[in-house]
Amino acid sequence: MKDTNGTGYLPREQWLEIDLFERLSRSAFRSRFHLSAADRAYIEKRGMDTVRSHAYDLVRKRLAPAQIPNDGKQTPMRGAPKGHPVFVAQHATATCCRGCLEKWHGIPAGRELTEAEIDYVVDVIMTWVEREAAAGGRAGAGSR
Ligand SMILES: [Zn+2]
Repeated sequence: MKDTNGTGYLPREQWLEIDLFERLSRSAFRSRFHLSAADRAYIEKRGMDTVRSHAYDLVRKRLAPAQIPNDGKQTPMRGAPKGHPVFVAQHATATCCRGCLEKWHGIPAGRELTEAEIDYVVDVIMTWVEREAAAGGRAGAGSR
């Protein structure tokens, strides 16, 4: 997937140390994702706790296994009503596939995610969702 991560001249190790949301805000691709009115209505209706439990289910099923046959394509681009707000958050936060998890979060592909990594990924997703929901779908990773 075409993506600009704003690395420029920075060595990867140094780039990874920059705050994730700061790095995401520099990516034109990542920062174009926002919660739609339908996503926000869905969250309002189900509540944050339910959305968080969906995030756990989705991450465990689609990201956590060591081998994912369709890695890079397992996260639909669509939010509610036909997709899910968590999918949108995954694209916005580069937690959409193991390739992006490795590149953006420094979590190696090719092995099962640990429980701590699953917690981390869900926290990243839900931080983005909560910011977006609070800002009426306009915060995204690029809010300042
Ligand atoms: Zn990805």
